[in-house]
Amino acid sequence: MKTEEVTPIKIKKADSSKIEKVDFDHLTFGSVFTDHMFVCDYVNGSWGTPEIIPYQPLVLDPSARVFHYAQAVFEGMKAYRDDKDGIWLFRPDENFNRINKSSVRMAMPEFPEDYFFEGLKTLLKLDEKWIRKGEGNSLYIRPFVIATEPSVMASPSGQYKFVIICSPAQSYYGGEVRVKIADHYSRSASGGIGAAKAAANYGAQFYPTNLANKEGYQQVIWTDSNTHEYLEEAGTMNVFFRIGDKLLTAPTSDRILDGVTRKSVIAVAEANGITVEVRPVKVEEIVAAAKSGTLKEIFGSGTAAVINPVAGFGYKEDKFELPKSSDSYASMIKKAIIDIQYNRAEDPFGWRYEV
Ligand code: PMP
Repeated sequence: MKTEEVTPIKIKKADSSKIEKVDFDHLTFGSVFTDHMFVCDYVNGSWGTPEIIPYQPLVLDPSARVFHYAQAVFEGMKAYRDDKDGIWLFRPDENFNRINKSSVRMAMPEFPEDYFFEGLKTLLKLDEKWIRKGEGNSLYIRPFVIATEPSVMASPSGQYKFVIICSPAQSYYGGEVRVKIADHYSRSASGGIGAAKAAANYGAQFYPTNLANKEGYQQVIWTDSNTHEYLEEAGTMNVFFRIGDKLLTAPTSDRILDGVTRKSVIAVAEANGITVEVRPVKVEEIVAAAKSGTLKEIFGSGTAAVINPVAGFGYKEDKFELPKSSDSYASMIKKAIIDIQYNRAEDPFGWRYEV
């Protein structure tokens, strides 16, 4: 292993690359990782020297607080390669701001902006060959922060580790998605941590999602925890409803993740003359629109799939199918966003970030 100093990031390169062993045509999402990772430790009230090291296991004391009190937050973003070999990120400032917002909510320290961007760019350049050309190919980037201080005392950790790992991804198509509207379980509560990308939110979703899977649904549409009358998110995506020519989506709140794709969908839709109503959306209203035939589309929005159309939904004992449409808002908006991500179209919003 060679060590070379690049201020302020210390780089230790891997002796050899694993890339030759990877079958890029048959990737299981999130299971193969690139040759390097970015790490930075927080001790005595400040972040230390950021480092890039060969991808490797973390060694933590069994009493590290992350294992006991779930002080852990993360992000999900992607890098894309265009046809001329340019490498791009999509609105990375949003992910940077969100991980710090998540950290604050979990009583964890914020990470410095220059460390984040320099670390990310240096890591992507080092593992650049893992970012493949072609529609749907991308490098999924997972920054995360965990509480590492060895102590089972139930109070905030004094030590943390900020890490970025990267995993090559192919175009994501989850197949036909049918969703169950939650009428009992909640993914988040008012005053809780739903607006943070906190690890604990995801663990808490698995059990109710498993129950929905057993009933034949792939995902749950989460409703507000107070009344279960309002539709909030779909699985790990924000959710949009098209009634007639309008799009509806819930306003962000302390129960809802402020999705980067969600705000991009709203901007693209409005730029295309579509009216977007950002307001509480009642289950009753969607069920009535499904019955009367004015409900045209439901789709989720998120980094993994950009947009994931919903084929049908269940609510209590009833099941509804959505009409199939060749001129869906979902496909128009998805194409517009993907064209910006892959540098195939103008970027009137200034969302692309060159690595
Ligand atoms: N809601 C939840 C709960 C999520 O985990 C995600 C994925 N980050 C989203 C929405 C979509 O957010 P984004 O568009 O930023 O990926």
